[in-house]
Amino acid sequence: MRFYDPKNSKWLEIDVKAPYEKGLIACPNFFDMHTHVRLNGQEDYDTLQKAAIAGGFGSVLIQPNTRPPIATQEVLDKHFQLAIGKVVNYHWTCSFFGQLEPDGKRTLCYSNDGIEYDTKQILEAFRRKKPRLILDHSQFYEVGGIFYEGTQIDVQKRPVCSEAMSIFRNVTLGFEYGFKKFHIQHVTTKLSIETIQTLRRYATVTCEVTPHHLFFTMNDIKNTNFKINPPLAREEDRNALLTAVEQDLIDVFATDHAPHDEKTADFQNAPYGTSGIETAFSAFYTITGNLEKTIEKMTLSPRKVLGLNDDFDFENITVIDPKVEYVVDAKKFYSKGKNCVFDGIRLKGRVVGVKLKGRWVYWDGEFHLNG
Ligand SMILES: [Zn+2]
Repeated sequence: MRFYDPKNSKWLEIDVKAPYEKGLIACPNFFDMHTHVRLNGQEDYDTLQKAAIAGGFGSVLIQPNTRPPIATQEVLDKHFQLAIGKVVNYHWTCSFFGQLEPDGKRTLCYSNDGIEYDTKQILEAFRRKKPRLILDHSQFYEVGGIFYEGTQIDVQKRPVCSEAMSIFRNVTLGFEYGFKKFHIQHVTTKLSIETIQTLRRYATVTCEVTPHHLFFTMNDIKNTNFKINPPLAREEDRNALLTAVEQDLIDVFATDHAPHDEKTADFQNAPYGTSGIETAFSAFYTITGNLEKTIEKMTLSPRKVLGLNDDFDFENITVIDPKVEYVVDAKKFYSKGKNCVFDGIRLKGRVVGVKLKGRWVYWDGEFHLNG
């Protein structure tokens, strides 16, 4: 089978002993550095494992805003317990506002994702915490607002520039207190990309984009599944994101998989997030049309940002049919979250199989998770 090696940007011919191979290609397992597991009935370590594998992922990095948040050793230990016996490689982030320090093995870095903070709180955290990589959900919570200005839905709006303002605030603050590495999560606007480019003169600033922000704008918001944080921006922003991907100004493709069982129909009260780990590859490939780049940004790039140096081998691979097209049916997701902005949308390219630690754990819709 043809295998894409993102480290050397080369196609190889390898023997993977797959059930069938015609028209298929292989690559290293995907790595998602932005996954929410929720718990409390919404998503758990089993449903997330199935959803991740069906999406071609071998590793995921859990964000800290579980209930309670991953801010103490006690909570972290509970997560370790829940992940015992799973074949997916689970990694965790530590809340930037808690007591935990990343150990570099299971807990990889800080994250402030999903945790509301203001300028004073983030300043205090930068003063108090050891300088390490932080995954930054940049938001000016003080200004409020659910959607960006210009969105035709009657709820409170936030300025489009507020994301870039927060990126500038957080990186410059952190830099002043000795932080050298920042990873900006789910960028959505042209001004954010320009701000990141400026900040790269001072510190290591990487960033990620989600498939939904590459695909949709504020004009596409049809129902509360499209209530996402950060919100969908303008067409000029979406185009800037696509250009930034082309120019490799965006490092990583991440899912921001945010499952919710069922959302209320009213925009004010519905929770934020779209369930996306099962459709991420297809969506990124469909919108970019670039197979090699999609593989690179879903395999090598997140590992690079996180400083993981694991060698790619042929015992941990994801098999893809790059030609097949299908219409997303969120009801069939393995995730408990059926809230998906891609529901009903035709996508190109699909994950067919996943080999993890030398074993085919998934092939053509069937799981083989035990032994
Ligand atoms: Zn976030």
